[in-house]
Parts: sequence; structure tokens; C-alpha cells
Amino acid sequence: MPAEKTEAPAAREWKCARCDRALVPKKTVFKYLERSFTHEVLCCPSCGRVFIPQELAEGRMAEVEHMLEDK
Ligand SMILES: [Zn+2]
Repeated sequence: MPAEKTEAPAAREWKCARCDRALVPKKTVFKYLERSFTHEVLCCPSCGRVFIPQELAEGRMAEVEHMLEDK
């Protein structure tokens, strides 16, 4: 049996590359194509830089675009 050493991907801690501080979740309003939506993103408590995983950004943008096309 392999040693039990589980590391859930969600437990991974993101850090600011510049400050080396753990990022904290923060609600941010995005504006895109005259629409706005709120999403919780990770931001650095030290320098305030916001980190958005690319998949999230692209996924959300595609969603909004789709909504507009459906109209
Ligand atoms: Zn920082």
C-alpha cells in the first residue's frame, strides 16, 4: 500500500509572486460588453494585485458572449 499523502488540488495555496504572501479571496466586479458580474477572485493582501485563473476568465467571458448572442 502506498503511503497516504493526499493533497487536494483545492488545498493548494496561491501566493503573490512579488510579495510571497498567501492570496485572499475577494469579491470583484468585472465589466464586459456593457455587462457586469461579480466573482470571487484571489487577491494579494499586500499589494492588492488580483489573480484570475485564465480558465475562469475565459470561461466567464465565453458565457457572457453566449448570453448576448442568444438574445
Ligand atoms: Zn503582492
